[in-house]
Amino acid sequence: MNLEETDNKENMLQQAGALFLRRFGRQPAHISLAPGRINLIGEHTDYNGGLSLPSAINRWIATAMAPRKDRMVIIRSENFDQELAFSLNDNLKPRRHWEKYVLGILEVFAHIGNEDMGFDALIVGNVPLGAGLSSSAALEISLLNSLQYHYQAELTKMKVCKMCQTVEIYKLGLRSGLLDQWASQLSHKESALFIDFFQGKIEPVALPAGEISWVVVHSGVERKLAGSRYMDRVEETLMGLNELKLRLPGTSHLRDISLEQLETIRTQAVWKSRVRHFITENERVIEFRKSLTQSDFRRAGELMLSSHDSLKEDYQVSCAELDFLVEAAQTVEGCLGSRMMGGGFGGCTLNLVQNEKTGEFTKGITRLFQEKFSKNPKIFKFFPESGAQVFPFQD
Ligand code: ADP
Ligand code: MG
Repeated sequence: MNLEETDNKENMLQQAGALFLRRFGRQPAHISLAPGRINLIGEHTDYNGGLSLPSAINRWIATAMAPRKDRMVIIRSENFDQELAFSLNDNLKPRRHWEKYVLGILEVFAHIGNEDMGFDALIVGNVPLGAGLSSSAALEISLLNSLQYHYQAELTKMKVCKMCQTVEIYKLGLRSGLLDQWASQLSHKESALFIDFFQGKIEPVALPAGEISWVVVHSGVERKLAGSRYMDRVEETLMGLNELKLRLPGTSHLRDISLEQLETIRTQAVWKSRVRHFITENERVIEFRKSLTQSDFRRAGELMLSSHDSLKEDYQVSCAELDFLVEAAQTVEGCLGSRMMGGGFGGCTLNLVQNEKTGEFTKGITRLFQEKFSKNPKIFKFFPESGAQVFPFQD
């Protein structure tokens, strides 16, 4: 069977502590954990002030840290088997991709004073990288929460998220929303988060355990050029808003527009279908939440499928492998719904599967994918987890 074993917090803490000890010859002072996330529904809506329903998962990025008595900083990424060493006086420029995140976080964290207190840090994680499970936000949140603890800074959880988003925007060049950071930082155990990005409102929604499972299937497609195409969608929806302001007086935000109003506008321009996705996806989030509350998983599954169709047809962020996985999933016993998840152009699908059928689903989807693409997909079953936490280290 191809289903990846799941992990728990204790294992992650133990592993990070042991690796820190091996590298630095002493125990860390604390370990900061930040989870990856799945997004049940509400895709490509955050940066336009829409609705989403993400949940943190039982995969984490850990930052183990201990103070130094000088102004040196050593940061090791266990996943990349690489290190950064510098003095707090240096103005270091990133040379490698992961260093953009790490140095970006250090830069936005303006609390490093003049005192001689550098640090040793070891970063290790089991969130699959670049899969749409948000290892980048988990890395940012984990490191920034760790720095906050180390330097005893007072930042609200929301502020930390905003600072991490700043790093994605200015250091990675991605004008992304706050979905990933909020999910990693603010999630509750056994719940999803209903998020209204326009109002800045967050409400936990209980995810009933037992009857259903959340199964992620990785297409194995790297999201090459995903960044630039993501930015195209940001631009296209912005263009849509500007057009709508001209055509429908009183419009100040995409959330002001109903589907009926949009459909009165006659145009072949691409912005119209992008805005259509935004409007219909927000409606699906509200209905999905209701169906979860009523344990109507069949309806939830249908909504996932129409979310996928909208992402494929109107938003055009899917790809052949993701479309195949979603189609194939519908033919496998036990699958209630399936959709591409994350930014798109590769990465994963999320599948809502009857709990007792998870084994059959895994076998079925593996066989179909194998027949079509001659390779095995990676498959994960995740559990909804609580958000980021800092643990003072105990032997
Ligand atoms: P996703 O967030 O979907 O996993 P991204 O492309 O946004 O994909 O982020 C992946 C990047 O985050 C990696 O290429 C790397 O630069 C950085 N990253 C994630 N985890 C780690 C880690 N454990 N150590 C160093 N860098 C990491
Ligand atoms: Mg990311």
